[in-house]
Amino acid sequence: MKKMSFLIVVLCMFSACGAQNTTTDIKKKTSVLVSNDRPKLVVGIVVDQMRYDYLTRFESKFGDGGFNRMINEGFNCKNNHFNYVPTYTGPGHASVYTGTTPKTHGIIGNNWYDKETKESVYCAGDQSVSSVGTEDDAGEMSPRRMQTTSFADENRLFTQMQGKTIGISLKDRGAILPAGHTANAAYWFHGRGEGAWITSSFYMNDLPQWVKDFNASDNAASYLKEWNTLYDISTYTESGVDENTFEGGFKGKEKATFPYDLKALSKDNRGYDLLKATPYGNSLTTDFAMAAIEAENLGQDQITDVLAVSYSATDYVGHNFGVNSKEVQDTYLRLDKDLERLFQYLDTNVGKGEYTVFLTADHGAVDVPSYLASVKVPAGYVDRTDRKERFNSFLNTTYGTEDIVEHISNGQIFLNRDKVQALGLKLSDVQDAIAMEYLSYKNISKVYTATTMSTTSFSIGVENLLQNGFNQKRSGDVILVNDTSFISYNKTGSTHGSGLNYDTHVPLLFFGKGIKHGETFDKTVIPDIAPTISALLGISFPNGATGQPLGFVID
Ligand SMILES: [Zn+2]
Repeated sequence: MKKMSFLIVVLCMFSACGAQNTTTDIKKKTSVLVSNDRPKLVVGIVVDQMRYDYLTRFESKFGDGGFNRMINEGFNCKNNHFNYVPTYTGPGHASVYTGTTPKTHGIIGNNWYDKETKESVYCAGDQSVSSVGTEDDAGEMSPRRMQTTSFADENRLFTQMQGKTIGISLKDRGAILPAGHTANAAYWFHGRGEGAWITSSFYMNDLPQWVKDFNASDNAASYLKEWNTLYDISTYTESGVDENTFEGGFKGKEKATFPYDLKALSKDNRGYDLLKATPYGNSLTTDFAMAAIEAENLGQDQITDVLAVSYSATDYVGHNFGVNSKEVQDTYLRLDKDLERLFQYLDTNVGKGEYTVFLTADHGAVDVPSYLASVKVPAGYVDRTDRKERFNSFLNTTYGTEDIVEHISNGQIFLNRDKVQALGLKLSDVQDAIAMEYLSYKNISKVYTATTMSTTSFSIGVENLLQNGFNQKRSGDVILVNDTSFISYNKTGSTHGSGLNYDTHVPLLFFGKGIKHGETFDKTVIPDIAPTISALLGISFPNGATGQPLGFVID
């Protein structure tokens, strides 16, 4: 934000206004924060539910200015994985930006059972703050449940709060967790009848004028139009047939086939929220991100700013239609255009070679299990009712009560500690007995106890991933792992959450200032991203970072 002082330096350097050593002195004085070595702007892009193979499957259909520009000019980490379970959106965004895992940053799920208050909590929920930009409670959000800093926080601390941070996403958690604790702002999209970008009193008490103007424009309304394929659907040979039995679709339309009349469908699909589940949700995000760059003067001086953009529409489309659908393919071809538009905007407004971008995902997704089963790949659905009945009868027979279990969520069983004590039982014995019982159930492949997680150190396998996702204060007593490609979900659409490759293997691309051109098959993990950006900026690593800087991507 010290635009003037930088201008003075430049003016002195390029005019004969001072003696050589005066220029050097000024440079020295300002060089701590004002460095030509650093990018003016770091743009972090998270694509929600982007599997690695979307980069390769759709490569020939992508243009040169989006994903392929990052690959052709930047660095492609082709073997990049999440290194913890569960692979959900909240933990994913937190891990990308904090450089660590739920074990350390504490975001163990999107929602989880709070052992102290004995209620379910939301990763970004915060009732101590209020909505800004809507009367709805959708703005009661903050990053306070995230227990460590993001690299954006470290950049704020390093630059004496002069480098800005702004987080943007359709999803509140996709904007809030990346931007961190010290962000100037995080904005997310509130659909329903409003179609507005909102925030919370954690950041400000009133929306800036540019956000009000953006909300007052017809931007969101302009996307309630027909959604048809970008190119002739017959050319979409990289995805399954449009009409099949593996897709959900929208209320008010019998078949999940193109085209979709979004204006008409919005009535039965929560108004503007429908846009989130179409590629136009990503276009809306891009429009808003470009408006933020302009209005907030991001990347306009040598003090690095951070813009965290998360594209969420891809996740809604994947959940609804499945990873092999024409709808997913079209959503990625259109996202590629949005990225091209964003990069061109950055070239013009920040300057080619003056900004650095990384792109990754918050998790992958499994192919629709009913589709996999139809082509003979072992896959299917967990029978939750059967499990529940068997488990309750086990609890009644063994302990004389079901109350010994307080809650089950995110594949974890939470015990009632008071009950265990009242029955004169040892906690680890109850954990072991429940683990042994659950292991005998259909489609359960592994079971671990909290005691094992706390007393044994695992360095490989799913055990290591579970341990990285295990937070002693917040996680449950028994951890369940389903068989590969078996999910608790509808029979249509894709989901995610496991430690298997379909959920962990995601893109990691870097490009722009300070980034080498190249590619690697060496394994990288999500927590490596934040230390890499910290190293590039010469700032402290996020305070809980456990990843390592990827020195080979830095020029
Ligand atoms: Zn999802």
